[in-house]
Amino acid sequence: MSPEELGQVQAEALGRVKGAAGAADLLGIERDYLEKGGVVAKILASIPSLAPEQRRELGSGANRLKQAIQKAIEEREGELAAEELERERKAQGFDPTLPSAQPRRGSLHPVTQVTRELEDIFASMGYAILDGPEVELDYYNFEALNIPKDHPAREMYDTFWCDRNNHLLLRTHTSPVQIRALERFDPPFRAIVPGRCFRNETVDASHEHTFHQMEGLVVGKGITVGHLIGTMKTFLREMFQRDLEVRLRPGYFPFVEPGFELDVRCPFCEGGCSVCKRTTWIELCPCGMVHPFVLRYGGVDPEQYTGFAFGLGLSRLVMLRFQIDDIRHLMGGDLRFLEQFGC
Ligand SMILES: [Zn+2]
Repeated sequence: MSPEELGQVQAEALGRVKGAAGAADLLGIERDYLEKGGVVAKILASIPSLAPEQRRELGSGANRLKQAIQKAIEEREGELAAEELERERKAQGFDPTLPSAQPRRGSLHPVTQVTRELEDIFASMGYAILDGPEVELDYYNFEALNIPKDHPAREMYDTFWCDRNNHLLLRTHTSPVQIRALERFDPPFRAIVPGRCFRNETVDASHEHTFHQMEGLVVGKGITVGHLIGTMKTFLREMFQRDLEVRLRPGYFPFVEPGFELDVRCPFCEGGCSVCKRTTWIELCPCGMVHPFVLRYGGVDPEQYTGFAFGLGLSRLVMLRFQIDDIRHLMGGDLRFLEQFGC
């Protein structure tokens, strides 16, 4: 076979490759030219019958032919794959230049945000941050807080009981951790206890069966109501970034004596608004001097030590902070609501 004939074979083969419409066509070309019994194999088989000087020429020519066809097939495969992708892209309306979908970023729950803020404020005043069980014993939730079984104050707390014998309950306030703290630490000490509380109440815009409180307890020698007021004023200044007036009204809670309701001057208005119900005062928390019985229950001598305690309504503070008008939003789990508090 002359070099011209070899060139013809190559041109014909490459022409077929170029016109191939798919993988099946390319396989056919491979079979016709490159595989056993194909054109290249036949050329190579004819070599031994040639004159020696022609053998080398035809041998290398056949090899070049084989390589050229292989290369052309590979290139055509690439082209066909790209065309296929382009067809799919058009069919699906897919545009690879568009930005990809961004992952949704979560954020801290408003209760968590305010809790952390309060923890920072009280930690800076030397308070320890304590935790306690949410499923509590009657003893810690009531008995040791000077609320014995027959005490009418129990009716203030709509309790979820966990057993038939009324020993176990979902804690109705964070106050049981007062007793646990008194048992655990020797005075003097200061502690706050942020956490969830539960009451079997009819749910409405200002009542929720699950809500958050933050208990505060300070025990030491010579602790007075003055320390309580000073502490609350400092905390409010940090929280609202300005001095706010506070006032104490007498309040009755079995675990404090004397007991108070602490009100704060409304930070949102001058002469009355819907938050303070036009009174310019907002009820902030029950508080008072720890009852001697409670100190004794906790193993602390009330002759030597005194202390104050407060029960901040954490859910209420969150509502004040973010001007939320319905407590049910807090535990509702509605992402449209929660997404507003991204940070
Ligand atoms: Zn107001």
